[in-house]
Amino acid sequence: MKSLTTKTKLYVLLGNPLGHTVSPPMHNLAFEKLSMDSCYFPVEVSTDNLGAVFKGLSKMNVGGLNVTIPHKIKIMEFLNELDPVAATIGAVNTIRIENGKSKGFNTDGEGFIQSLEEESGISVKGKRFFIIGCGGAARAISMTLAFKGAEKIYLCNRTAEKAERLAAEINNKIRPCAEVVINDQTHQKKDLDGCDVLVNCTSIGMHPNISTMPIDESLLRKELIVADIVYNPRETKLLQVAKAKGCPIVPGIGMLVYQGVEAFKLWTGLQPPVKEMREKVQQLIHTT
Ligand code: NAP
Repeated sequence: MKSLTTKTKLYVLLGNPLGHTVSPPMHNLAFEKLSMDSCYFPVEVSTDNLGAVFKGLSKMNVGGLNVTIPHKIKIMEFLNELDPVAATIGAVNTIRIENGKSKGFNTDGEGFIQSLEEESGISVKGKRFFIIGCGGAARAISMTLAFKGAEKIYLCNRTAEKAERLAAEINNKIRPCAEVVINDQTHQKKDLDGCDVLVNCTSIGMHPNISTMPIDESLLRKELIVADIVYNPRETKLLQVAKAKGCPIVPGIGMLVYQGVEAFKLWTGLQPPVKEMREKVQQLIHTT
């Protein structure tokens, strides 16, 4: 264990619960590889205590924070400034503290895009996306895709009203590029056929329900890039079936790593060791 001093720069993860988080070992490895006198640690905090804990941390030698479930929206009340992408998404997962002032960012969507572009070799600009699921992660991903110039974003969700609300927000606040897809196979096929990338943003397929899929396998054609943000198991049933059909696949572990990489860059201005961070996360996520 590294020895800490009053000079050690602190980085903190706020959430509740935080039992299985991989962020502390991932960031601490990056600090160690770059020989930085910095330390990242998790703090479980209740919603009632969030403001007091954040204000206290802001007065300490803290350079930045990550924020996770259930505090990504509530934390915005306590910040001095918001990045425009985070403000539009309406959720913050990364905070930078400089000269006593806090600024909130959202690196979830950017983390997904970095992972997709690196692993599939495409650029999102001008591409057509089909997103299943309209929860918090889908919101960050679809809005960031709209900011980054995706040509079309189809949104399909079990609860149709959530897809309608998200599409309206994207079209009104960013660009008119989002459209709702009715959640049945006929409508899904019609719109998916014209898409470049399918993204599973539901929790379907996540451990322990590993034999479930968010879409019928007959809809997958080999030209379609299939991304799944679920990272446990590392290769979901959706990805296994897509791979067997010849589709390029993008597992969720890359988003997990790159949301951290983007946060690290915002805090330090430095490029962290991505390969080592990925290996560390892979070691920590046991199920395959
Ligand atoms: P969330 O806000 O709770 O949203 C869950 C979404 O999944 C909703 O659209 C929900 O539909 C849908 N869903 C859940 N069960 C379903 C079912 N049985 N049938 C159809 N739809 C279903 O969760 P989230 O934060 O967006 O996270 C979603 C998944 O992404 C989780 O597995 C999470 O672990 C993963 N994730 C990964 C990363 C990463 O870095 N790779 C980051 C964030 C999240 P309704 O709206 O109809 O309820």
